[in-house]
Amino acid sequence: MAEAKYIFVTGGVASSLGKGIISSSIGKLLQARGCRVTIQKFDPYINIDPGTLNPYEHGECYVTVDGKETDLDLGHYERFTGVHTTRANNITTGRIYMNVIEKERRGDYLGKTIQVVPHITDEIKRNIMLLGRTGDFDFVVTEIGGTIGDIESAPYLEAIRQMRWEMGKNTLNVHLTYVPYLAAAGELKTKPTQSSVKQLLSAGIQPDILVLRTEHHLSDDIRRKVAHFCNVDFEAVVQSEDLPCIYQVPVNMLNQGLDATILRKLGVEPGETPELGPWRKFLERREAATEEVSIALVGKYDLQDAYKSIRESLSLAGTYCDRKVRLEFVNSEYITRENVEEQLRGFDGVVICPGFGNRGTEGKITACEYTRTHDVPCFGICFGMQMMVVEFARNVLGYKDANSRELDAKTQHNVIDIMEEQKNITQMGGTMRLGAYKCDLKQGSKTSEAYGGVASVEERHRHRYEFNSGFLREFEQNGMLCVGSNPDSNLVEIVEIPQLRWYIGTQFHPEYSSTVLNPHPLFLSFIKACINK
Ligand code: GLN
Repeated sequence: MAEAKYIFVTGGVASSLGKGIISSSIGKLLQARGCRVTIQKFDPYINIDPGTLNPYEHGECYVTVDGKETDLDLGHYERFTGVHTTRANNITTGRIYMNVIEKERRGDYLGKTIQVVPHITDEIKRNIMLLGRTGDFDFVVTEIGGTIGDIESAPYLEAIRQMRWEMGKNTLNVHLTYVPYLAAAGELKTKPTQSSVKQLLSAGIQPDILVLRTEHHLSDDIRRKVAHFCNVDFEAVVQSEDLPCIYQVPVNMLNQGLDATILRKLGVEPGETPELGPWRKFLERREAATEEVSIALVGKYDLQDAYKSIRESLSLAGTYCDRKVRLEFVNSEYITRENVEEQLRGFDGVVICPGFGNRGTEGKITACEYTRTHDVPCFGICFGMQMMVVEFARNVLGYKDANSRELDAKTQHNVIDIMEEQKNITQMGGTMRLGAYKCDLKQGSKTSEAYGGVASVEERHRHRYEFNSGFLREFEQNGMLCVGSNPDSNLVEIVEIPQLRWYIGTQFHPEYSSTVLNPHPLFLSFIKACINK
């Protein structure tokens, strides 16, 4: 296939219908048919990237290998397809405007008046096609954030309309809507879908495929009615019923021939239906796993999406250990030395979550102390690892004022500190240590064993502060070892207490690289330790 084909995924009626999961499922199915696919997301907000957003606003910030802070939907894309995303896979309105304004200041527009159409829409189109033009992909799936009718999404719809006009058969629009069930009337209602398609039509876009989110099965009559009112072929109206697990969605879409319909409409012969062998095996194993392993997530954001990739990584690892993972959020703000036993007793393992700033940190430190002194498997991730280090310095090395420079600028025992090159940074956005860095593993450690004995790995980072290597000898003499370090900078990337069952902290975020078919080895090893406890 010479030129890439573009699949646009838009959403109507309501937000949170799962456009990310549908986009990921489309990507997965096309990939299963031997196509090279990438999925990108356009977010209609003004922030340059979600890096500066509080997780309460927008859930977790996902980090790509090339160091871009992105929307959490990219996590779904990678977990479903196993293909790395890059900075080109997540673009915000802020980024589009920034690019246009920079060009304007450079004088690139030669005295023209800069307008939403054509300048902003051209920049959107350029960014949509950036990945398609690399020659690396047969299909580019583009998810448009927000809901049709939002003021913010108008320029994106206009860009799609133009691309469809210019590229014709090489583009396709999948529109996701919602069919509510009115319990009082005992009826499923298609009117919101019809209105939403009308809205799309008024922007000049005729959807090719409709995916209807529903809590109840839709009869053929209902689908036919929608097809009829919306000028969409009957077989191109598919339904996405609520399922117990998001990873069943690709199979559900395959059963309704969504991928084959997409290909036919794009003028591509679909060929044989893919088997999805390993994927189905994973689902079977997941369903069969009924015995529980219970994990406490010690963090400060009481919101499902805030630790999305960690939750998914734990639950995926659970499946591969034939266990159902029961995850419970424990708010570190309310953990005290008096109640820690009561709060954490009964869990098979504890994860100390990433984070920024002071709120809830003493609770995390107390949780570290409890797990260390009671030999409960404990996994510290990024800030969580830093808190493990601070706790060890306070209670084992005896430095009562030990802390991270982030939390106490004046401490004498700054066991976690800011690096020289980070000191003069004044801007907050995009200035952390971001993306994949090499990490050499210490042979013979639990960590190295978990990784299967390999000498070196690459893992993704998102932090400003680092282990202060001035204290390293003292830590090691007292039982907390550095078992992973960066070969170029010597920075400490992983700490471990080998005397304990499983007490490991990583300065990086392993959760970003755990996928359905390739669960991350550290999460696997952690869950195994929790089960054996
Ligand atoms: N706040 C810490 C730092 O900047 C950790 C960040 C994180 O957990 N991602 O180093």
